[in-house]
Amino acid sequence: MQYLPLYAAVFALVWLLFIRRQRRITRLHAAQLAQSLEAGLAEPPSLHPVIDPSRCLGSSSCVTACPEDALGIVKGKAVLVNGAACIGHGACFAACPVDAISLVFGSEKRGVDIPNVTPQFESNVPGLFIAGELGGMGLIRKAAEQGRQAVEVLRKRARGQFDFDVVIVGCGPAGLSAGLAAIQHKLRYKLIEQEDSLGGAVFHYPRNKIAMTAPVKLALVGTVRFGEVQKEKLLEFWQGVVAKAGLTIAFQETMQGVEREGDGFVVRTARNSYRTRSVLLALGRRGTPRKLEVPGEETAKVVYRLIDPAQYDGQAVLVVGGGDSALEAAIALAERPGTSVTLSYRSAAFSRVKTKNRLALEQARAAGRLRVELESSVKAIESDKVMLQTSTGTVALRNDAVIVCAGGLLPTPLLKQIGIEFETKYGTA
Ligand SMILES: Cc1cc2nc3c(=O)[nH]c(=O)nc-3n(C[C@H](O)[C@H](O)[C@H](O)COP(=O)(O)OP(=O)(O)OC[C@H]3O[C@@H](n4cnc5c(N)ncnc54)[C@H](O)[C@@H]3O)c2cc1C
Ligand code: SF4
Repeated sequence: MQYLPLYAAVFALVWLLFIRRQRRITRLHAAQLAQSLEAGLAEPPSLHPVIDPSRCLGSSSCVTACPEDALGIVKGKAVLVNGAACIGHGACFAACPVDAISLVFGSEKRGVDIPNVTPQFESNVPGLFIAGELGGMGLIRKAAEQGRQAVEVLRKRARGQFDFDVVIVGCGPAGLSAGLAAIQHKLRYKLIEQEDSLGGAVFHYPRNKIAMTAPVKLALVGTVRFGEVQKEKLLEFWQGVVAKAGLTIAFQETMQGVEREGDGFVVRTARNSYRTRSVLLALGRRGTPRKLEVPGEETAKVVYRLIDPAQYDGQAVLVVGGGDSALEAAIALAERPGTSVTLSYRSAAFSRVKTKNRLALEQARAAGRLRVELESSVKAIESDKVMLQTSTGTVALRNDAVIVCAGGLLPTPLLKQIGIEFETKYGTA
């Protein structure tokens, strides 16, 4: 009994510390939310949680479960404080103790087109299959499982007079896994990839990012248990599997069209036409890089992503775009010795970028390490210069390389043309 005041004092102290910590975290989350709203980064790209505030207890289970730090607690309720970071694996949904979370596509403001596919991954166009993130389901494991399962289904179709049993488009987790399954089932396959590297979205994760993935079953390989794995290790794993299985990939071939031919298809790229019984679209949702559509764009000095800033040392580089990837490329290049960097963006301000990138760009500009041309557009690209239309007229800039970071275009019109039906989701499952 004599210790009661002491216990009460300890309890009160612990409680006080807990409340202070909770308040500090709430302030931090509210600031994160304000920042992502200001930066235009509150909209999640695909599947994401919607929290029912009348059910939410503010237990923080979802905040703790989210590996992307996309959720926070604001005014006692869970909120998506960093929508753009949400990758839709639904760990939050599983963690919520009171079922306050539902997972949806799109929002009231922004519709997301999801193709209609059967549980066997076939679209409404018979013989045309869709696997992975393009079909709405993100995540490495789900994409890889779907790629394998789609091949299990399409291999049963009669072969017919075609050069290939299946053309697989896209070499991310879904396409890679489908390719392995095609080898296992001795199918005549063609796997095409628009980029010069495999891995799809994984290849573009930030350096050293830890990917989390549940066990996944791959044809020829068996069940792979990654758990948490660094991006670079995951890519190394895929490269090893591709080499061991002898999977052939036609890199730098972009699917530009698919047409019906009899009960099969012709898949067209800039270099080839492939006649095939079935098509498996494993395109993901990043799309094909948006082009500038200006004279000279076809030259080798124009690329659509920065791979190694050091390769531009001593050169005059124009970066085009106003998103995070454009800013990050310009900032990285500005740090290289002797590199002269201009960033061209068509709008008057960078409105959808992370604050840290905006600040770093401002610093580099103030230090004279790069030049920023807002409200400008590229008019022509020549061997030693680019013509830039600015608010004060046309200027010629000395130039050795152009890096276009203007986002990606999903081939939705092309897919609609061949008859694939989509549903536009505005915040529904
Ligand atoms: C930053 C970030 C972090 C993530 N972290 C995780 C994580 O920790 N765990 C997890 O499970 N998931 C994570 N994801 C999600 C996961 O990476 C994707 O869901 C998965 O890669 C989807 O695989 P996919 O094969 O469907 O598509 P993608 O990986 O997008 O691959 C599609 C491929 O198709 C190619 N392609 C597209 N159009 C064409 C065309 N017309 N012609 C030829 N080729 C074309 C593309 O170049 C690309 O290589 C993350 C995503 C992002 C953006
Ligand atoms: S879906 Fe995944 S990334 Fe998005 S908020 Fe939930 S746990 Fe985080």
